[in-house]
Amino acid sequence: MRVVVTGGAGFLGSHLCEELLARGDQVVAIDNLITGSIENVEPFYGDAAFVFQRQDVSNHVHVAGPVDAVLHFASPASPKDYLEFPIQTLKVGSLGTHNCLGMAKDKGARFLLASTSEVYGDPEVHPQVESYWGHVNPVGPRGVYDEAKRFAEALTMAYHRYHGVDVRIVRIFNTYGPKMRPADGRVVSNFLMQAIEGKPLTIYGEGQQSRSFCYVDDEVRGILALLDGDEVGPVNIGNPNEFTVRELAEIVLEVTGSSSELVFEPLPVDDPTQRRPDITLARDRLGWEPQVQLREGLSRTSDWLRTMSGL
Ligand code: UDP
Repeated sequence: MRVVVTGGAGFLGSHLCEELLARGDQVVAIDNLITGSIENVEPFYGDAAFVFQRQDVSNHVHVAGPVDAVLHFASPASPKDYLEFPIQTLKVGSLGTHNCLGMAKDKGARFLLASTSEVYGDPEVHPQVESYWGHVNPVGPRGVYDEAKRFAEALTMAYHRYHGVDVRIVRIFNTYGPKMRPADGRVVSNFLMQAIEGKPLTIYGEGQQSRSFCYVDDEVRGILALLDGDEVGPVNIGNPNEFTVRELAEIVLEVTGSSSELVFEPLPVDDPTQRRPDITLARDRLGWEPQVQLREGLSRTSDWLRTMSGL
């Protein structure tokens, strides 16, 4: 297959490029590099099956030649990033998704949308099943990401129903692993870097809010199972093991052997109080479930962060 990956220089996008190349696909990675890192794709430059195009898909997307699949992963994804780039986040979820769907329609390609657990907002149904419509504040600071992705899902289904485009929608839950930017602001990278550097771990609020963390290799395997299968989705892909942020902090200290203290900072506006995927659909339809447990995944991520930051 010849596959276009938008956001190909990002955390998940670059892992997808790597896995697609490993299985023998040709890859065109597109990124405007506002939150992606060129270092994530430089290792693929020597591979004749890989091409990188620096483009902003919100303005225009052009790929010469045949395309079999378009994986739309371009978007700021860390709360810190989408609060810094609110307009770009709204544009890439709306205009960018429109451009990428147009390309998929034109090329006769399958289209896979990277959606998110944020479509559930601050969920009142727990764990979150795909049939739950969510609880999102459209005018809050996180609304720029949540509503962009909700619009992107609606647009994807409209292209599917009206134009007959072959589509897939994955709802991605908190994912971590090597190639996360050390300063991307998310809880796993923050806590690991703080522990490694001997600085205090910054817990927002009282740390009683929960998240369910999926190791990147599991996430990528789930996304490719969805791409290759017949299920349109949306399908939740995430690890259903749930931890409070406080518990995560304790586990990070244990895994890194750090004696950093814990400090408490204000809780961001509209921070979801709980999050855990129901993965029955992924198990039944894709035969997928995560394999890497949190301690093992954190240990691998910590090793990578130490190596890349020379600590
Ligand atoms: N968080 C925290 N300390 C940090 C960064 C994040 O306590 O240094 C909390 C944040 O308030 C949220 C959870 O960790 O409750 C996950 O935050 P993250 O930014 O990783 O992703 P989110 O799931 O909110 O999109």
